[in-house]
Amino acid sequence: MGEEKPNLYQLRLQKELGIPEDEIKVRMRWNMPVLSQNSKCSISLDLPIINCKPTKACSEVCYACQGRQYYRGAIIKSLAVNRLIEEDPEHLARKMVDEAAGRTIRLAGSGELLPEHKELVNYIEEYGGSWWGFTRRVDTHKAMPRLMFSLDATTPASVLEYVKKEVPVDRRAYLRRPEDSPAPLEVAVTFPVHGSRTRYVGRVPEGETDCPAVRKRVEGCWLCGTCY
Ligand code: SF4
Ligand code: SF4
Repeated sequence: MGEEKPNLYQLRLQKELGIPEDEIKVRMRWNMPVLSQNSKCSISLDLPIINCKPTKACSEVCYACQGRQYYRGAIIKSLAVNRLIEEDPEHLARKMVDEAAGRTIRLAGSGELLPEHKELVNYIEEYGGSWWGFTRRVDTHKAMPRLMFSLDATTPASVLEYVKKEVPVDRRAYLRRPEDSPAPLEVAVTFPVHGSRTRYVGRVPEGETDCPAVRKRVEGCWLCGTCY
């Protein structure tokens, strides 16, 4: 009998929704860090998954429900930072650029960017910061077309159609589970599912577009740059 897999998106969502309002408010402080450290992509702005429009595949293996991003403190921080963007995107962008100290910021290290986060991204650029990132949301991608668009084997046909027509190949990424075929469209990078709870890399067939960091051929994104 097949082992039943937990839906990681649902697990994280329940944990996020269970955080009391006062704990989020206490973390909404301008004198505390907004960026997070990440061994693969250096520094990231981590957001909550209440912003996500997950697919069946990504919700099954959601990386925001794994490792340090799933710690209660990290979830509270993501919710607080999401509110700070709403409160004062200019202030948050200045703080991000300051904390980044010349390093390129990954958007979003967990969760999702919303179309209205375009204002934050504009301020990051205005203050001299650099950024890169991914989305699964068509509305967000339309607002910020420089983002990579993440596909997977369960991406709805209408979304695939958008990507085929509007997203250049160098902005397309594909999340691949062990049971999935190669990407349905030409993509720049393929991410074999990886993570502390979903250690599937060895079971995903190798492909030419595989992310070299996931395959442990480079130490981090700063040595590759395909998605920048
Ligand atoms: S879009 Fe990313 S963070 Fe959101 S549910 Fe999917 S894998 Fe998780
Ligand atoms: S393909 Fe390169 S830049 Fe993109 S995530 Fe992998 S290592 Fe980082």
